Amino acid sequence: METLQDRIICREDFPFLAQSKIAYLDNAATTQIPSTVLSAVEAYYRNGAANPGRGEYGLNLQVTQLYEQARERIAAFVGANAEEIAFTAGTTEGLNTIAQAYAAKMLGPGDEVLVTAAEHHSNFLIWQHACKQAGARLIISPFDANGRLDWDAFKASVSAKTKIVALAHVSNVLGTVFPIEDVVELSHEYGAKVVLDCAQSIGHLPLNLHALGVDFAAFSGHKMYALSGIGAMYIKQDLIADTSAFMLGGGMVDEVWESQSSYLDNIRKLEAGTPNVVGAISMAAAADYLDGIGLNSIHNHEKELTGYLLGCFSEIPDCKVHGIPGNANDRTGIVSFSVKGVHPTDVALALDEAGVCIRTGTHCAQPLHRRLGVEQSCRISLGLYNTFDDLQKAARTLSGIRESLGRRILGMFP
Ligand code: PLP
Repeated sequence: METLQDRIICREDFPFLAQSKIAYLDNAATTQIPSTVLSAVEAYYRNGAANPGRGEYGLNLQVTQLYEQARERIAAFVGANAEEIAFTAGTTEGLNTIAQAYAAKMLGPGDEVLVTAAEHHSNFLIWQHACKQAGARLIISPFDANGRLDWDAFKASVSAKTKIVALAHVSNVLGTVFPIEDVVELSHEYGAKVVLDCAQSIGHLPLNLHALGVDFAAFSGHKMYALSGIGAMYIKQDLIADTSAFMLGGGMVDEVWESQSSYLDNIRKLEAGTPNVVGAISMAAAADYLDGIGLNSIHNHEKELTGYLLGCFSEIPDCKVHGIPGNANDRTGIVSFSVKGVHPTDVALALDEAGVCIRTGTHCAQPLHRRLGVEQSCRISLGLYNTFDDLQKAARTLSGIRESLGRRILGMFP
């Protein structure tokens, strides 16, 4: 079977993977870093660091240019304009900023915010909090038995009271790709703004925010083969004026007087303090790396692997996949599962012994796990460097896990 590795030697591009035999299957948590990104990071420091926008000397101007070029590169990567992109510490900071800088002041008593039941805590707690502060109502839209958005229920939940619709592009537990174009069309009909959490689509699917038509979006560098501690948020151009500075400090001001101050009137008003220049550079280098392979090729590769993995699961007794079980369409390479009678921690430890890294727990999605009827789950999540070999290793261990652990029945299934 041909893999992306047969076409392009990807694993070799990642120093950690090239020198280890590990099957790294925890890419939804964080991704490994390719040499080209590491080189860009090293080059930044070797060529001299500076605090962008805060000096007139040559090195400073050069670094300012690098930082702004990174903004342009990320904008192009996600189908936006540079003036619509602000760097953040990651998806969580981006979503919190959107909630505080825009949504909180727009919400009032009687208004509604609609989220799905599959949201990561980062895209759930902020809306729960904003609604409590504003006296607004949080509506939680269910998913169906296959992990897809229950469209009828969703549609019935949107009304003139809906001010914000906030949802993940891809569920970090079920791997479902939500129908964003439909969500945007419906939400906009009622005047609601759409906030898209792209933490699990970035680096896995081609992403074009203008084409999707969303109003706000956020994503993280460390989930797209760049450094951690960096991310970006998108705000549609005509909404920037409606956002208020959220964090105050250097870099986001126009004039500061002892009695009052004014702030920038562009998206940089949301970038207070010294920016994470090297992080931004790492994201730009990762975007170059990913575009060099092609997001369509990456998506197809991960889809092929996911199909194979789902096939393996259908043959492993006592393993139950949560969400879309039977095919690799409408989903990415995130597959959560439970093994009957075996605690997820034991599953992870057995896989670790076999050199396979997976995630267990609630994956920051407790409400979703309650709806699934399990306390925790195991999660395999793919990246562009994964191979059929990695999945075979995992499947072999899972096939014999109940026997090897002595059939400790913990009643995981209802
Ligand atoms: N949203 C989703 C869907 C995620 O999967 C994650 C992280 O796993 C986040 C938000 C938060 O991302 P970060 O921790 O990088 O801020």
